[in-house]
Amino acid sequence: MHHYINSSNELLRRHGYRLTPQRHMILSVIQETKEHLSVEQITERVQRRNPYVSLSTVYRTLELLRELGLVRESHLVGESPRYESADGQAHHHLVCRKCHMITHLDDALLGNLHEKLQEQYNFHGLMLDMVAAGYCDSCWQILQQNEPHIESSRHLPESSVVPDE
Ligand SMILES: [Zn+2]
Ligand SMILES: [Zn+2]
Repeated sequence: MHHYINSSNELLRRHGYRLTPQRHMILSVIQETKEHLSVEQITERVQRRNPYVSLSTVYRTLELLRELGLVRESHLVGESPRYESADGQAHHHLVCRKCHMITHLDDALLGNLHEKLQEQYNFHGLMLDMVAAGYCDSCWQILQQNEPHIESSRHLPESSVVPDE
């Protein structure tokens, strides 16, 4: 058994839950990928193993796993919530607004933001979950070619402003 599933099993037991076959399947699907999956994508992958697991079962299971801190839910720009294993990796995201590519942001970049927020706002037990929206390099290049004035669009007359995606 993979380490993540193993420790998830222990945590479930400590909270009085069993590692049912459904929970095991959902945890494996999440653990086997580096992607950020929607509920529908998780359900599809689980159903390849057992077609009788319903979308609502997956919903309920994800809710439980999220509450127990085993699964991380991210609300990314303009998307339905995405799920990934809460396996100790940094959980700040750079999201491309065009191709929706997701990159994890290096925790170290934020420095001691945690401490600063605590000092300045007396806000404790912080869970920082940052989403930075923008364009990845290849989408940016394409946008620049098609719309060379994208950066200065706000200086153009109203009629020629390209609406945000
Ligand atoms: Zn992530
Ligand atoms: Zn992109």
